[in-house]
Amino acid sequence: MSLINETDKYIFSTYKRFPIVLLKGKGTKVWDQYGKEYLDFVAGLAVCSLGHCHPKVVEAIEAQAKILLHVSNLFHTKPQIELARLLVENSFADKVFFCNSGAEANEGAIKLTRKYMRDKKEDRFEIIAMRNSFHGRTLATITATGQEKFKEGFDPLMPGFTHVPFDNMDAVQKAVTEKTAAIMVEPIQGEGGVNCPSDSYLKELRAFCDEKKLLLIFDEIQVGLGRTGKLFAYEHYGITPDIMTLAKALAGGLPIGALLARDEIAKSFIPGTHASTFGGNPLVTAAGIAAFTALKDPVLLGNCSSMGAYFMDELNQLKKKHPVIREVRGKGLIIAMELTMPGAEVVNKCLQKGVLINCVQNNVLRFLPPLIVTKEEVDHVVALLDEVLLR
Ligand SMILES: *Cc1c(COP(=O)(O)O)cnc(C)c1O
Repeated sequence: MSLINETDKYIFSTYKRFPIVLLKGKGTKVWDQYGKEYLDFVAGLAVCSLGHCHPKVVEAIEAQAKILLHVSNLFHTKPQIELARLLVENSFADKVFFCNSGAEANEGAIKLTRKYMRDKKEDRFEIIAMRNSFHGRTLATITATGQEKFKEGFDPLMPGFTHVPFDNMDAVQKAVTEKTAAIMVEPIQGEGGVNCPSDSYLKELRAFCDEKKLLLIFDEIQVGLGRTGKLFAYEHYGITPDIMTLAKALAGGLPIGALLARDEIAKSFIPGTHASTFGGNPLVTAAGIAAFTALKDPVLLGNCSSMGAYFMDELNQLKKKHPVIREVRGKGLIIAMELTMPGAEVVNKCLQKGVLINCVQNNVLRFLPPLIVTKEEVDHVVALLDEVLLR
């Protein structure tokens, strides 16, 4: 039986997978079981921002694996402390809670919001989230997510969420009630189609949260950690959130999530209120230290900004030639090319030609290359798209 048939035999079919088995990765490339090489512009869904098997991350994992893998959070461990200190020293936050995925980090943010308001003796628990957002697959995070397709069949959902159109201040103002506790938003919507807000939106949201005493929660699971050309996306807008969630790229390919907050808010999570057995274990946080240190390198962030701008320019040139391209948008190296037709065929043709890209929202090609991507690699993908779109 082929490996792909065994997937169908043994694994829940929650994913529609591409018909290749990947065995190996290095930098911007991966190889399948027949040795075919692919240029990877999916990068493990924005996880492999440093490229595959980054030497510093691999070295850290090897070293830590020989010392200590896991002891639980009943004890202090050095890698966890060190990664938390790095995150705090490089962000608005005072405290970090570690978990194992993005959805868990957002669950934590939702719980923390409720607990913080309870501690203040305020009867406020509602969270305003955005249409087309994506926050994860647990019950609370599918409820927070502003897309019906993720919720069908899973009701009753969590109480306490309302949704408004993204990048629309009027809608937020109208949606606030005496029960509203927080506004939860991705600074740029990733899964929703790489939707970038107008320049003033996040600043206005910040001012509005200050005025109404609401918490501002930024889900930077996809756009944080260098993806937009700055270490955190909020840095583009001259503001800070109250709570931020991270995951994807944080441990260079190992599973991790992090919930960050200002001290005043973080202190609502007292012993016993929240926990994770694996959260921040020595192995993943050792990888996290190596990954985060590499991700905050100004040279890497500079490459992300310049390659992102170059890639967008080149795609906009393609747009002049191919009427099927509706819009090109993005920031840094989270870039989308919206088509006037479904994108699946383009994705499959690129796969055949050795380039991995991804399609969201049916007609939006999403590019999330490793931040180490070169001009030659961008040129290669642009030339391939040009060829594929002609047919
Ligand atoms: C991927 C993603 C999540 C969910 O992360 P998981 O690790 O899959 O649980 C949440 N929010 C955003 C913005 C994401 O891109």
